[in-house]
Amino acid sequence: MNAPHHATLAVPRLSRRAESLGTENAFVVLAEVNALVRQGRDIVSFCIGQPDFPTPENVQEAAIAAIREGRHGYTPSAGIDELRAAAARDIGARRGLEYSADDVVVGAGAKPFIAYTIASVTDYGADDEVIYPVPGFPIYESQIAANGAIPVPIFLRESRDFAFDPAELEAKITPKTRLLILNTPHNPTGGMLGAADLDAIAEILVGHPQVWVFADEIYSRLAYAGTFESLATRPGMRERTIICDGASKTWAMTGWRIGFAANRILAPVFTRWITNTDSCASHISQWAAVEAITGPQDAADRMRASFVERRDLIVRLLNTVPGVTCRTPGGAFYAWPNVTEACQRTSCADSEVLRKRLLMEAGVAVLADIHFGRRVPGDGQHIRFSYAASPEAIHEGIARLDAFVRRHGK
Ligand code: PMP
Repeated sequence: MNAPHHATLAVPRLSRRAESLGTENAFVVLAEVNALVRQGRDIVSFCIGQPDFPTPENVQEAAIAAIREGRHGYTPSAGIDELRAAAARDIGARRGLEYSADDVVVGAGAKPFIAYTIASVTDYGADDEVIYPVPGFPIYESQIAANGAIPVPIFLRESRDFAFDPAELEAKITPKTRLLILNTPHNPTGGMLGAADLDAIAEILVGHPQVWVFADEIYSRLAYAGTFESLATRPGMRERTIICDGASKTWAMTGWRIGFAANRILAPVFTRWITNTDSCASHISQWAAVEAITGPQDAADRMRASFVERRDLIVRLLNTVPGVTCRTPGGAFYAWPNVTEACQRTSCADSEVLRKRLLMEAGVAVLADIHFGRRVPGDGQHIRFSYAASPEAIHEGIARLDAFVRRHGK
């Protein structure tokens, strides 16, 4: 806590909300890596979750045209009609559902909808509970706490290919549960919710009509194992599921800040949040996103194919490193190897010590499991590789990891 520090500086105190706000350690580690690179250190980085491709050229051109044509003022808070309609068609078509433009709101990325959803369905300090995946995207827990709700983790198990056991979900739901957060394909494990799990989750939720579902499907186009499916397709689930998707991962547009949320009831509520915060997403980026969705998809398809190749490469290489085992992730662009034995061999107390030593001694930047919540009891130590990196970087990075483990191996 910052209180004593602030007291000595004689500035007014901060709110509990501000002091409890967590962060996304990928950005913290990225700053660390950039500082080392500026000092001239040679670092192979696997720490940031974004495609390493340029935004497709047709999308770039659409943005330039929007600027030249004077389409750069405010837009309605829900987004321009053209993008809402295009996103509604795309979200629906990929899931076998029908959405109208009115059901869809455009935000400055998918991320803001996490906070908007939690703030829209829980009350501050009212003991409202939110169930969320651990390991998981750190913003879930951070925003649950900052909004004064109670974080209730549900553990993803390596033995289930990083899905949770639906029986565990059943056990965690109480009358105070207001929201369940799902993420498929999943960051950081690459795990996916299969058809049988979705059936089971839907069946459980039917008995608990007080629970909303935030379906974080930002990696929906990057599903490799089987077909991607959404909980919203299950009986009774569509009305209470908020589907969240966006342009960042599918079209290599992370910095353009365009995301979508689809839910009939919450669309006007999200719109009001946006009026209160960002006013609207970037007008220019919105026209770029219209082109991304409605234009040719060959660049997106090529990126996807390249992620599959790199997934196979990194998983194969990781499994040759002593003390490292890696399951094949079903989607996204993350590998989540178990490094319990590698930690023991190299006398690292845990995955975070291993991560720091890999960065400082081997020049390999990864994230540790603790950056994604508490460790899953009984599941050992993990680190995360974002394999949105060149095949050369993957070869070099895993060779460095291998040399490190062998050099320090007991
Ligand atoms: N959800 C998950 C699971 C993510 O991994 C990310 C990006 N790392 C986001 C949401 C946020 O995406 P955006 O860039 O669209 O805000």
